[in-house]
Amino acid sequence: MKILITGGAGFIASHIADKYINLGHKVAVVDNLATGFRRNVNKKASFYKADIRNKIAIEIIFKKERPEIVNHHAAIAEVVKSLRDPIPTFETNALGTVNVLRAFGEYGLGKNKKIIFSSTGGAIYGQPDKIPADEKTPAVPLSPYGLSKLLGEEIIKFYSDYYGFKYLIFRYPNVYGPRQNPKGEAGVVAIFSGLMKSGQRPTIYGNGTKTRDYVYINDIINANAIALKKGANEILNLGSGKETNDKKIYYLTAKYAEFKEKPIYAPARKGEVYKIAISGKKAQKVLKWQAKTNIETGIKNTVKKL
Ligand code: NAD
Repeated sequence: MKILITGGAGFIASHIADKYINLGHKVAVVDNLATGFRRNVNKKASFYKADIRNKIAIEIIFKKERPEIVNHHAAIAEVVKSLRDPIPTFETNALGTVNVLRAFGEYGLGKNKKIIFSSTGGAIYGQPDKIPADEKTPAVPLSPYGLSKLLGEEIIKFYSDYYGFKYLIFRYPNVYGPRQNPKGEAGVVAIFSGLMKSGQRPTIYGNGTKTRDYVYINDIINANAIALKKGANEILNLGSGKETNDKKIYYLTAKYAEFKEKPIYAPARKGEVYKIAISGKKAQKVLKWQAKTNIETGIKNTVKKL
């Protein structure tokens, strides 16, 4: 199949591109390299350095590639940045998504047309009453980033219906693994590992009991591979349902980075969720998917390869 992947120079979607190519598909990557890297792009993929906010550029690419599947990962995925300066986040994550969907509707080709979209659990559910949060949990985004991804979901649903193709929306937990940018704002395993390897003490905001649902990249890749065949017009959490706290992440990362020092503790940051995990039960039912990698194995692999 012909697959166009947006954001395919970034952490998650570059791995998905590798997987699709290994499965024998023809892949085109669209990325403006804002936070992605050319070196992440598989050599067998066609690469377009383009911005999804640029309607004309996106149309030209779709006219040339005529994909049957679009896997849409391009986004500004930084919570703090979105609070400080929200407009670029909305422009890329919402308006850019309109450009991608319209170009796909007009120029995509094939009888199994489908869009796969990377949304977020944590940034959409806010602080849920019940953990793990399922897909029925009310959306209460705490940042323009979360709101922009929720808008992205609505845009996907609208245009999929309008043009008559299928969609599959994944709400990701905290994804971690090789290629995650240690200099980014999110991705605590990458940040801790990057600092520890250069001999610096990482900071934990709060007292170390804050929790997140961490899922290793290989599990996320698997879900995106299954999505080529299964799942239509659904929203699915790709969570493990398990909470892991900051302290545990710190000490597991330290173990494999062979770092002996203690963390620096700083006051908790405003607007951050205290505890969250998202349930993957629906994804298990619909896709027969489950997060399989345990946190220690995932961190070990990540520290080794980062
Ligand atoms: P990333 O920053 O590594 O990847 C995003 C990619 O999009 C980058 O390569 C970047 O250059 C590209 N991009 C940004 N703006 C663009 C634009 N205007 N035009 C074209 N390309 C553009 O981040 P990631 O962690 O790989 O995240 C990928 C997707 O998954 C995002 O949509 C993000 O919202 C979503 N997500 C990630 C996580 C996580 O834990 N990493 C959690 C929830 C959702």
